Amino acid sequence: MSMISVTLPDGSVNEYVSGITAGEIVIDIEGRKHDCVAALVDGEEKDFSSELDSDCSVAGISGFSDDGIHILRHSAAHLLAQAVTSLYPNAKPTIGPAIDRGFYYDFADLEDFGEAELKGVQKKMHEIARKNLTVERVECTDSELNDLFQANPYKIEIINDKLEDGDSSTIYRQGEWYDLCLGPHVHSTAKLMHVRLTSVSSAFWRGDQSRERLTRIYGIVEPTKDALKATMSAIEEAKKRDHRKLGKDLQLFHVDEDVGQGLILWTPKGAVVRTCLQDFISEHLTRQGYHQVYTPHIGKLDLYRTSGHFPYYQDSQYPPLVEKDMMAKLASEGCTCGELSNMMAAGDIEGYMLKPMNCPHHIKIYASQARSYRDLPLRLAEFGTVYRWEQSGEISGMTRVRGFTQDDAHLFVTEDQIANEVLGCIELVQVIFEALGMTDYRVRVGLRDPDSSKYVGASEKWDLAEDACRQAASSLGVNWSEEPGEAAFYGPKIDFVVKDVIGREWQLGTVQVDYNLPERFDLQYKGSDGEMHRPVMIHRAPFGSMERFCGVLIEHFAGKFPTWLAPTQVHVLTISEKQVEYGRQVTAKLKAAGIRAELDDGDHTIGKKIRMHRKFQPAYMLILGDDETENNTVSIRARNGDQRAGVEFDLFLDELLNEISTKKASPSLVPPKEE
Ligand SMILES: [Zn+2]
Ligand SMILES: [Zn+2]
Repeated sequence: MSMISVTLPDGSVNEYVSGITAGEIVIDIEGRKHDCVAALVDGEEKDFSSELDSDCSVAGISGFSDDGIHILRHSAAHLLAQAVTSLYPNAKPTIGPAIDRGFYYDFADLEDFGEAELKGVQKKMHEIARKNLTVERVECTDSELNDLFQANPYKIEIINDKLEDGDSSTIYRQGEWYDLCLGPHVHSTAKLMHVRLTSVSSAFWRGDQSRERLTRIYGIVEPTKDALKATMSAIEEAKKRDHRKLGKDLQLFHVDEDVGQGLILWTPKGAVVRTCLQDFISEHLTRQGYHQVYTPHIGKLDLYRTSGHFPYYQDSQYPPLVEKDMMAKLASEGCTCGELSNMMAAGDIEGYMLKPMNCPHHIKIYASQARSYRDLPLRLAEFGTVYRWEQSGEISGMTRVRGFTQDDAHLFVTEDQIANEVLGCIELVQVIFEALGMTDYRVRVGLRDPDSSKYVGASEKWDLAEDACRQAASSLGVNWSEEPGEAAFYGPKIDFVVKDVIGREWQLGTVQVDYNLPERFDLQYKGSDGEMHRPVMIHRAPFGSMERFCGVLIEHFAGKFPTWLAPTQVHVLTISEKQVEYGRQVTAKLKAAGIRAELDDGDHTIGKKIRMHRKFQPAYMLILGDDETENNTVSIRARNGDQRAGVEFDLFLDELLNEISTKKASPSLVPPKEE
């Protein structure tokens, strides 16, 4: 009997009979009650059923690990397709990947399927899971695959795309059902008991709007009942915090079909939040030596030809505007839209474009004067509005829009200054995140793909810039990772991913080093050596856009903004008409001190007034009755209903102003009740 030596996770080496499966070894290491879903053999993910016949290392992949949950999700997608096809025999499964928080599967020929139908499918999934079907990997030749999937043109298309003639691939079989797949998968459907279907939407085959419309079913799966429960309550919480819902309830923003999809109307309350944030960011930009500039919302096509944004990125832009006289002339000549667009692409006629980026405008400000090394670094900042043509299916609330204002800036620097300037950008982000109580975030450093030659600029320059990004990311004690292949073709970048209070990650903005645009615009500066040199540009919009950032903040705070950001900081409520005069005095004093205060001296009962104003989540309500009026005091009511009575008005105002100026992360003037 031949034996193999297997290295275990603790470094020890065991002898096993050759032909043993990876799953048997995992049970040997972890015990029968392990939570593993597959095995790692020599660092490669394998099914439990894979037989081992040479020396190797083996470890279990826990269903709680990132890799493990991915395998669970992908396996649950198979289970979903099995359940759907058993209930709806005409439905054709197309693709079904694991995604960030769960999985989905897209089906063709599954019409009239809505949320109401989810329950039945889920029941079927549990039924199949309970059968404890073995999930089996089967190697198939190209022609076997074509036979197996002949009734499903989508799978055939995938097979034809992926396989050269004569190649083999694998299917995974559980009971009667099988799917084209490379695996690995859980070894039994019993591992998929803790599954829940969450929603239905539509999609297009291969994401192409000109192709077949598909029905997409989403679900989540977890390794245990408790984990599923926790995830379901996180989803519930996320729904409550949805900025689209809160934005409406709190009257923060509005989207109007007559204005256009994806174009945000900031209503007065939302505008307060945005202005406070912009002011806060501006303060720090000034402190860091930035200069604020203003530039128009459009620019000539020629500008974007030089920058490379036109015609190459036309698909993601609003169509260009043609000059009036030219339009009239072309119309009289019977020019068609197609001809017009060709002429613009070729540069035969001039036009304007809604700006997709602020960079070309800022570059022209740089180039408006002769620059010397003494001017550098030159940091130009603008809350600049840009326009992109997102597909209508992608538009969502404030986070995916067609017009947005970036917290943009462009730094023109010498090569020696890159490291310091990148560091400054990260420091700024740190300060702002901390003030907002977003302490859990990470930084990704996008580097070159070592095997690709698509990058512009000399390799030594790249080494320098990549090192600068690495150093900046590591020097601040934030959690960071290197991501090879994630750099743009024109330079390495850093981006920020923030985790909100309920554990969801949001990608915000980036800091991007750029060797390309200075070249394209032939930017120069006179060095200390008297020679002309090329500056390097850094683009940075660390919070992405004000729309996206505010959308994320609405969800982060669940609409309960800290006092300095709250659209209304204080609602003043009178108990009866006897306090109207005092209420007016208090409100006037608050406003004079710069507080955003509103008075309700109407006829409703105090209980009703509290309910009416509570839904707008003011930081505080002041309740004014006879006692307060007599003693020149206020009774402060916190959002959770706790009160602090008999506070002298001047003391309240002092404390409030202090809370605002120090940007406390949450209202603190009413101490929590002792239990
Ligand atoms: Zn699969
Ligand atoms: Zn830029």
